[in-house]
Amino acid sequence: MKASRKLKHRKNAKRKKSVWRLAIFLNTVFIKPDLQGKSWRACLDVLLRQYSALPDVVKAEARRQGRSQIRDAGLAELGSAIVAPSRQKGCQPAPAPGPSARPKCGACRSQWGPKALFSTQQAAEEFLVRNKGTGRMRAYCCPMSFGFHVGRRPATGPDGI
Ligand SMILES: [Zn+2]
Repeated sequence: MKASRKLKHRKNAKRKKSVWRLAIFLNTVFIKPDLQGKSWRACLDVLLRQYSALPDVVKAEARRQGRSQIRDAGLAELGSAIVAPSRQKGCQPAPAPGPSARPKCGACRSQWGPKALFSTQQAAEEFLVRNKGTGRMRAYCCPMSFGFHVGRRPATGPDGI
């Protein structure tokens, strides 16, 4: 029976990796991965459903950003950082993707530090929608870096020089 146990283990390891990957993808577009499933297989099913419900452009952006984050930080490190806390604590407020998870602008700052830099206006707007952006917030093209910010228009900001 050793062989079949080994096979089962390998299947689970594979599922875990898929869960990690999908959780990272969803996280990059500010969607809270639903990780309440009791098993890796159950989690994977739910994440696949979440992911496939996204518009194609968002999926493409999630894959692009997710892959580059995985390249930089490693699948296991990133994946377990997202998945482990949700699975341990169960229901909890959406884990806001840490400030470090997002690329930062080298030129613009908000009161919290360097502003997050989105590679596309679409990504910035998705973020706004996710966070139920207030009327005064908008996605705008960064005047200094190659990318987009979310916030009040730079000209009206205190540091919008
Ligand atoms: Zn900027």
